[in-house]
Parts: sequence; C-alpha cells; structure tokens
Amino acid sequence: MPKKKERTFVAKLAHEARRIHKEKCPVCGKEVVPAVFHAALYNEDGCYRPQRRRVKICDCNREEIYG
Ligand SMILES: [Zn+2]
Repeated sequence: MPKKKERTFVAKLAHEARRIHKEKCPVCGKEVVPAVFHAALYNEDGCYRPQRRRVKICDCNREEIYG
C-alpha cells in the first residue's frame, strides 16, 4: 500500500510545517518570517555590546529592522 503510506507522510509534513512556521501578522495579515536581529549597542561607558534578538519580520517592521 505505497499510496496510503505516502499520503500519511505528506500529511505529517504539512502538520509539522504548520506547527513550526506559519504565523501571521495581526496587523497586515501577512506571513511573518522568524529571523535573528543583530544590533550593535553601546552602553554608557562606550563599551561595545553586541546583541542578538529573535524577531519576526513582516511588511510592518521590515524597514525598521533592516534600516
Ligand atoms: Zn505586519
């Protein structure tokens, strides 16, 4: 029964994909893309302090993040 097995596999993949990514922006309704945002921050002493932040990018904040 190769056909049934195949369908089960595809269904499982689809389920996994939905669970992991597929998130929609509440503002623009488009899909948001998870990414890691690197920001260079300096504290009051002038020391360089790199920061990594997880962000979700869509049309609303794309410009803000990529500058
Ligand atoms: Zn948006």
